[in-house]
Amino acid sequence: MSEDIPVIAIRNLHKRYGALEVLKGVDITAHRGDVVSLIGSSGSGKSTLLRCANLLEDSQQGDITFKGEPVHWKGEGLQRRPADPKQVLRIRTNLSMVFQQFNLWSHLTILQNVMEAPVTVLGRDREEAEAAARKYLDKVGIGDKADAWPAQLSGGQQQRAAIARALCMEPEALLFDEPTSALDPELEQEVVRVIKGLADEGRTMLIVTHDMKMAHDVSDHVVFLHQGLIEEEGAPEQLFGAPKSERLQGFLSSTM
Ligand code: ADP
Ligand code: MG
Repeated sequence: MSEDIPVIAIRNLHKRYGALEVLKGVDITAHRGDVVSLIGSSGSGKSTLLRCANLLEDSQQGDITFKGEPVHWKGEGLQRRPADPKQVLRIRTNLSMVFQQFNLWSHLTILQNVMEAPVTVLGRDREEAEAAARKYLDKVGIGDKADAWPAQLSGGQQQRAAIARALCMEPEALLFDEPTSALDPELEQEVVRVIKGLADEGRTMLIVTHDMKMAHDVSDHVVFLHQGLIEEEGAPEQLFGAPKSERLQGFLSSTM
């Protein structure tokens, strides 16, 4: 892949739920190795944007391109849908999502949780998938929890298992939706450390977060969303150090 082709490019994206216009023309680009953080008040459209990016959610206008491959649509407006289910699967499995609430299967062990999708969705050989799952559990520091049940783990450990599960899909990019918001402060840092490690090894990531310190420390680019539009964006030093818009200034002072 040529380096100037972004892993994800979103152009002029519009999304509405009935009469509620949630995204009003948003552009996001992530090249290979980029960490892009999305910040903004609750309700500004951050989660919706992530869910539209990996086609968990429909959008009504605008383009989404994955490694130079534009999403094919059929229909228009509220009827617009992705046209090609195989393309949807390819894109979704390559943009692995990590959710605020971990979403582990409670009836599966940690190891089974991590190897489930590679086996059932990607058709990987079980032994291969298990070896990969153990490798990623080691990587996030919970190799010893492979045979535990999710309920036996702390929130921080469960979230690290969810990150291992996302990594086990060998995705092109990881999408995080408030990965530390459900965690007690003392458990947050173990997840932040894992995310920093992934940034250091050059993973492509879109991260919705209200942890401004993490956004500052891991991002190449930070986007401030306000009511479905990008109000300001830039390098973290600039965005956090010298915010231009009054709304961003207000938002940042309210998060201190
Ligand atoms: P954020 O993640 O920035 O807090 P969201 O993307 O979750 O914001 O939500 C943006 C807006 O869209 C909010 O007003 C929210 O109430 C609305 N919204 C989100 N999901 C749905 C849905 N499934 N149906 C209707 N409205 C929704
Ligand atoms: Mg959200």
